[in-house]
Amino acid sequence: MKIGFIGLGNMGGPMAANLAAAGHDVTGFDVTDVAIDGVNRAVSAQQAVEGAEVVVTMLPNGAILRDVANGIIPQMSKDTVLCDCSTVDVDAAKAVAQQCEAAGVLSMDAPVSGGIGGAQAGSLTFMVGGSSQAFDVMQPLLDIMGQKAVHCGPAGAGQSAKICNNMILGVTMIGTCEAFVLADKLGLDRQKMFDVVSTSSGYSWTMNAYTPVPGVGAQSPADNDYKPGFAAELMLKDLRLSQMAAQSADADTPMGQLAEALYATFVEGEDGLGQDFSAMLKRFEGRSRG
Ligand code: NAD
Repeated sequence: MKIGFIGLGNMGGPMAANLAAAGHDVTGFDVTDVAIDGVNRAVSAQQAVEGAEVVVTMLPNGAILRDVANGIIPQMSKDTVLCDCSTVDVDAAKAVAQQCEAAGVLSMDAPVSGGIGGAQAGSLTFMVGGSSQAFDVMQPLLDIMGQKAVHCGPAGAGQSAKICNNMILGVTMIGTCEAFVLADKLGLDRQKMFDVVSTSSGYSWTMNAYTPVPGVGAQSPADNDYKPGFAAELMLKDLRLSQMAAQSADADTPMGQLAEALYATFVEGEDGLGQDFSAMLKRFEGRSRG
């Protein structure tokens, strides 16, 4: 297939490389000058999408996506597919889908989970919103870049699934970290705490698969001095998106709101920037109740 790929950063670079390695004809564009193995370089987004049957975007945020979409949709032929894999606000995903529909272009929002390691290994999970027609065209390409793709519903459903998942993740990580610190202060051994909770009703992905304390439970960034992993600032981005969506849908999400505020303090007012999101544990360790 002839594929245009826009946004060749930490995630987009390896995703584009995997498509090229699988034998597809990939032309990529990024505002910074990057060379990706097997990927032809275009001098503009418009040039990258010229003659493409499928265009994939992997960009930092919704404003940039809207801007890029404005530039490329008029250049795309009818019945080709625009697949956005960035994590953006639900409203931006829906707006781009509408713009595509008006131009006769098929579209889907397909944010990912799995991080840079998953992008490199081709083992991402895609959460997809959009038409079945677009999903059917994209499926073989998603199979190259990932291990699983769930078609969640119409335009915006992929982003909705992603931010709901990550809102749970942020809230659960905070709960897990504060419980470990409470256990410490109560004189409970961390290993015993893990042994009990990981097999009791307090178990969770953050406790069992991403244990936020060093030397206990799953191997995780805690065992590597809290180097990300999943950086605290990316968690903050996703929590902000969840609160934008909650605002727009008039949903009451008090725990999500608190999680956003806490990660904002951690990243912007303390030393959270550049640390894994599980470093929240160290934050609680260093504080007292007052
Ligand atoms: P990144 O900053 O490494 O890559 C984004 C790329 O887009 C950069 O190379 C940037 O130069 C390029 N870009 C910016 N504006 C552009 C434009 N107008 N035209 C063309 N290129 C442009 O970010 P990333 O880590 O690759 O993340 C990409 C997206 O994936 C984000 O939405 C992020 O939230 C999401 N995501 C990231 C991870 C992760 O672990 N890094 C995990 C899941 C989802």
